[in-house]
Amino acid sequence: MFFPASFTQTMTSSTIRRIEQEGHATAIAKSAWAHCNESAKDFRSDFFTKPSLPMLEAIISASLGDGDMGEDKTTKSFQDYVAGLIGHEAAILVMTGSMGNQVALRSALKAPPHGILADYRGHIINWESGGASSLCGALIKGVVPSNGHHLTLEDVKKNAVVTESYYDAPTRVISLENTLAGTIMPLEDIRAISEWARAQDPPIHMHLDGARLWEAVTAGACTLRQIGECFDSIQLCLTKGLGAPIGSVVTGTAAFIKRADWARKHLGGSVRASGVIAAPARVAIDDVFLGVPSRMSLAQDKARRASVLWQELGGKLTMQTETNMVWLDIPGSGLTVEHYNAVARGFAITVGEPIHGRLCFHYQITDQAFVTLCDFFRAVLPPSSATLSNNPV
Ligand SMILES: *Cc1c(COP(=O)(O)O)cnc(C)c1O
Repeated sequence: MFFPASFTQTMTSSTIRRIEQEGHATAIAKSAWAHCNESAKDFRSDFFTKPSLPMLEAIISASLGDGDMGEDKTTKSFQDYVAGLIGHEAAILVMTGSMGNQVALRSALKAPPHGILADYRGHIINWESGGASSLCGALIKGVVPSNGHHLTLEDVKKNAVVTESYYDAPTRVISLENTLAGTIMPLEDIRAISEWARAQDPPIHMHLDGARLWEAVTAGACTLRQIGECFDSIQLCLTKGLGAPIGSVVTGTAAFIKRADWARKHLGGSVRASGVIAAPARVAIDDVFLGVPSRMSLAQDKARRASVLWQELGGKLTMQTETNMVWLDIPGSGLTVEHYNAVARGFAITVGEPIHGRLCFHYQITDQAFVTLCDFFRAVLPPSSATLSNNPV
C-alpha cells in the first residue's frame, strides 16, 4: 500500500510520542514524588514530609513569570489567597521560615537602639543563627514564661521596655510563636498582649512566628482570622506538616509587605520562576490543611494516642501533648538516649536527631508506622514501670 511520505511521517511521530508519553508516565510513577516510603515512618520532624504527586502536577501547570519583577500570576494569586485566609491585606512568598521571620522583623524595625521581646525558647532566638541580632541590630530579650507554658500579658509588661530613657533599647517588636514546641498559646492571652502592645505610644509591632499555626488551628484553638486580627505580621511555613517542597509566606498590611519585598531582596530571596514554589504550596494548603477529612487532625490523633500509651506503660513526658508533637522524657522514664536509640534501630521507624525524645506526627505517618511505634514503646520501656499496659490504644 502506498502512503504519502507526510502521512507515514505523522504515524511515526505520533507512535514515538505515545511511547515517550508512556515512558514519562512510568518515570513519574517511579519517581520520588509518587511515594512517601521514607517519610511514612519518620518521626524526627514534620519537615520530613515529602512533596506529593499533585504538587508536581501543580508545578507543571504553574505560570512561569518573573517573581523577582512581581510578574508571576501563580505567585500573585497564591499570595492573595494566603492574605485572604489570614485576613491581612497582602502576603509575600519567601524561601524558608527563617527567611520569613527575618524579613518580617527587619521590615518591622527601623534603626537601633531597639529591642525584640520573645519567649526564651523561640525559634528566632535558638534556631536562626542569630539573624535577628545581626540583620536588625536588635537587642533580643528572651522571656521565661512564669506559668511554665506560654507568655502572658504580665510577663510581657514586666519585660518590655517602654521608657525612652537613653539607657534603654525600647521594645519595638513582640514576637510570639504558636505553636511553640507543639504547645498552643491560648487566644485570650494573645489578644491581651496584642491590645496592650497596640495601646503603647508608639504601638509595638506584633509579629507571629506561625510556622506551625496550621496545627493550632487544626487542634481547634483558634481560626486563622482570629489570629490575623492580633498580629501586624505573620510567618507561616509551607514545608513542615503541610509538606510543600519549598517556601514560607509572610502576611501583613500592603505597606508592610512593600517593605518586606525590599527586605527579601536584601536577603537574596527574590527568585525568578517563583510559580514553581507557589503552585505546590497552594496544593499543600488545600490538600493537607483544608482537605476533608483533615489529614493534620488524623496525625494529631496519632500523637495523642501515642502519648497515652507511653504514659500507660510507665513512661513520662516533658511536655503535654497538645498538637502533633510528643515529648518523651527519656531519663525521667528510666532510660538513656543510647539505649532508646539502640532499641529503636530494631524497629522500622526513624527517631532521634535533631531533637532526642521528640516525636513529630505528620500526615504521611501511616497506621502501620504508628503500630510499629507502639511496639517500640512496649519494647523500650522497662516492664516493671508498666501500670495499665493492657489498655488498647
Ligand atoms: C521550622 C521553623 C522555622 C523556620 O523554618 P525553616 O524553613 O526551617 O527556616 C521558624 N519558626 C518555627 C517555629 C519553626 O518550627
